[in-house]
Amino acid sequence: MKKLLSGNEAIARGAFEGGVTAGFGYPGTPSTEILENLALYGPQGVYAEWSPNEKVALEAAAGASIAGARTLVTMKLVGLNVAADPLMTLSYIGVVGGMVVVVADDPGQDSSQTEQDTRHYARLAKVPVLEPADAAEARDFVVRGFELSEAYGCPVLLRTTTCVGHSRRLVEEREPRPRNTVSFRPNVPRFVPIPLYGRKLRVQVEERLDRQAADAAGSGLNAVLPGASRALGIVSHGVTALHCREQFPDAPLLKIGWGFPFPDALFRSFAASVDRLLVIEEGDPILEERILSLGIPCEGKRTGLVPRCGEITPARIHAIRQRLFGRDAVPDLPSPVPEAADLPGRPPMLCPGCPHRGLFLALTHFDVIVTGDIGCYSLGVFPPLSRTDVLLCMGAGFTMAHGMQKAGEKKKVVGIVGDSTFFHSGITGLLDVVYNKGSSTLIVVDNRITAMTGHQDHPGTGVTLLGEPTKAASIEAIARACGVERIRVVNPYDQAETVAALREEIASDEPSLVISRAPCPLHIKRRLGPARAIDPAKCRACKACLRCGCPAIEVGENGRPRINPAACNGCGLCDQLCRFGAIAAPDSPPPSTTPPA
Ligand code: SF4
Ligand code: SF4
Repeated sequence: MKKLLSGNEAIARGAFEGGVTAGFGYPGTPSTEILENLALYGPQGVYAEWSPNEKVALEAAAGASIAGARTLVTMKLVGLNVAADPLMTLSYIGVVGGMVVVVADDPGQDSSQTEQDTRHYARLAKVPVLEPADAAEARDFVVRGFELSEAYGCPVLLRTTTCVGHSRRLVEEREPRPRNTVSFRPNVPRFVPIPLYGRKLRVQVEERLDRQAADAAGSGLNAVLPGASRALGIVSHGVTALHCREQFPDAPLLKIGWGFPFPDALFRSFAASVDRLLVIEEGDPILEERILSLGIPCEGKRTGLVPRCGEITPARIHAIRQRLFGRDAVPDLPSPVPEAADLPGRPPMLCPGCPHRGLFLALTHFDVIVTGDIGCYSLGVFPPLSRTDVLLCMGAGFTMAHGMQKAGEKKKVVGIVGDSTFFHSGITGLLDVVYNKGSSTLIVVDNRITAMTGHQDHPGTGVTLLGEPTKAASIEAIARACGVERIRVVNPYDQAETVAALREEIASDEPSLVISRAPCPLHIKRRLGPARAIDPAKCRACKACLRCGCPAIEVGENGRPRINPAACNGCGLCDQLCRFGAIAAPDSPPPSTTPPA
């Protein structure tokens, strides 16, 4: 039966059909839906879990694969930075059951802090990287990935992109292969890479690369698509190759699906079959530089013809064609949608009723440096809240605060992480602060879920990916175990309480942990209270209510704020900003909370 599947759904399907026993991962756009879909095969005996972070996921999968199981690991591009350590060694000791590590790159940085190209990791770890062009290939390549992984005894990277993961194609569903028998067979020289054995494994890795490079040409994963003219030949990869085919229908195309080890023989034979060679890659000029290193002239990013940053869309490939052949020969593409004129810029912002707004609003009362982290709360950087000064990576909200303070920064530094981030990589930072006698004020903005990637559970929620109840880890108990003595839990919707708690903790010269706790309203799917309205008779148009930056509060044409009742979540935060008692739920008494000084 054929089904219309997204690339991410197709990867889960491919893993199921390929006999996967277990999937491990950490949520991250654009990879998140893969494991969520794999979990749907739970009734058929497939195990899937959200691991606390990507390193843990890859290590758990390594254990399962070494015992013989086929495993899938999923993460976004920056997740592989976290998982890089076990990947490097796993390349040496290898796997028994096939392991496919799916890494979703994000060309154009729709939802990522960097635009790194995962193919570099394939080269660094000396493992194969496969690049499907669409959902149908994504399913097939996962199955092939398991086979290659078992044939060579090493993990295989599967690199997707936002476009591949989120676009859909009809995919023929097939019967699943039986799962491998799981039974660990000890082999110390292979599985314990102390230097004595590691040096031998190092040599075997190089020999394996040679075998893979020789096999890649005939694997069917790299293909030459013929063209009518040999004047120009194109080398491309993944979904970009499909865009190239569309924009250069006459040009022969070397479509790379297995990009590392480099298929040098194919590069040579293809280059010899065309007069001029153009490499169109999304990401870094990895194929281009390899081809140049073989002494084959080619054009691409290094000659300025192909953009170096961002997604290589069909429109950008069309522009490359215009630069090559001129606008007379290549007319402009018809505009797919009319240009939208005069629309105001709309940066992403915290949702109406988001508990993070209350915490950031409270922080506006203090002259402190705020080191932020990755999550919805990254949006605390935008005005009018503007309470994030620096952001690096997951877990660094705590550790950067500590480093600044230890370097002698005179201002108090406040470090923020989310609840999922606390379990991902915040705990070690907390330990660092306590162990090394830091004095930072650390805040966990705990909205009880991994919200930004679409509400995934984590070790603190008490529910597994398979929907089973489990033990919920306590942030307070972990902090106490780390040695933190000052621990406060605040309700971020209550400004007086939150500001007072922050004032005490920021003044302290001991490390302290403030847990700003309230569930994400989108996750609990509940209005927090009745929608608010502004009484025009009481409103003095002072605009103090706009300080919270809630998108439900608009400024009307008369210059006076008003609340959109369809957008308001009833959190009551704005009530506390109005000194004139003009904001209340219709038919409810005016709020009693007095605004903090
Ligand atoms: S804070 Fe109160 S008085 Fe000031 S603009 Fe808003 S509703 Fe009106
Ligand atoms: S109560 Fe005020 S701050 Fe809360 S969602 Fe409604 S308008 Fe926004």
